[in-house]
Amino acid sequence: MTREINPLESVPEGIGKTQEKGQEEITRLLNRSEGQFSPELQKTLEKIDFAKLRQLFLDIALRFGIYEDDLNFLDKKRIFGSAVRSVDSYYDLENNIIMITQDKANISHYEARLKLKDNTGLVGDEKMLEVLNREKKAMIETYGSVDLSTLQTLVHEEVHAISKHICKSLYEQNVDKWTDVWLRVHQSGYRRNNIYKKQLNAEFYPAPLMESEKFLKVFMVLNEAVVEKLAREIMLKYLENSGWPREEASVFEETVKNKSKPLSYAREVYLLEAIIKKLSQKTKKSEESVWQIFIKGLLEGEKFDRPEERKIFEKNFSPNFLKELSNLSTWPSWHSKRHESIEELKAFMERYKL
Ligand SMILES: [Zn+2]
Repeated sequence: MTREINPLESVPEGIGKTQEKGQEEITRLLNRSEGQFSPELQKTLEKIDFAKLRQLFLDIALRFGIYEDDLNFLDKKRIFGSAVRSVDSYYDLENNIIMITQDKANISHYEARLKLKDNTGLVGDEKMLEVLNREKKAMIETYGSVDLSTLQTLVHEEVHAISKHICKSLYEQNVDKWTDVWLRVHQSGYRRNNIYKKQLNAEFYPAPLMESEKFLKVFMVLNEAVVEKLAREIMLKYLENSGWPREEASVFEETVKNKSKPLSYAREVYLLEAIIKKLSQKTKKSEESVWQIFIKGLLEGEKFDRPEERKIFEKNFSPNFLKELSNLSTWPSWHSKRHESIEELKAFMERYKL
């Protein structure tokens, strides 16, 4: 929730500089040829009632003693479209902005590029259009519309934004003519010890690419599962009374309630729900109250470092359960580690009969 940006003593940058960086990045993004976002994404965002959405986030935050001034819900000014297809949407912690992969959802943009015979990017052939059309069809069947899929992505990233963040170091490194900017994130929600990197004046990429893989990342799966489950709940509440077209909203509601089609992080949420169920049975607490504890952990940056809570997992699962859970990783579909991480998740669930 609170954004603590405390550079290490050896890092010459102060908080002021860090905030300035966010401002610089915002200016740079606004000055791109495509501007803040594509016309399609703009149209989608115009359909969203940000005040209503913000209120739903605030209702949750207030339950855990977080007041409006400390709620890091991002308004439209801090939301940008990303044209980089290979990178999924993300919350950029350094700059406190949300990047939405707009082209994934907006085929007309590709069509326009095809017409221009623009073959310079990652797209530009008929095959890609075919893939996108398939993606679009699946998106409509699962979410009700492309707009609703984008809204779900946005809500997911907003949940990341309101999570507890502790960010300890930010430094620059000169490599030949490039300047790499490294950001060592110690915590975002449950996830810890991550490192992000970008080249100066380039779009920041949070994807844990090669350089970062040597750094330990913990609780990736738990973090995404809690974020996504909470995002779905917020979406359902929002759709209840936002005046969103019923025929679209009902498709999404059906998908969530009956789990009829896989949403993002389907496996991770499934694992989390199995853990909640088991903890509820063993501790005689309702599933809802166990779930609320997980939300609290996200907003407060739970580290599981107190013996009493470690004992809950040791007693009800095994002495190694938390450690094994913390080591599970999750990767986007295009990542080479995706398959391996799914296998690990499956094995973990079998081991604990979840
Ligand atoms: Zn996420």
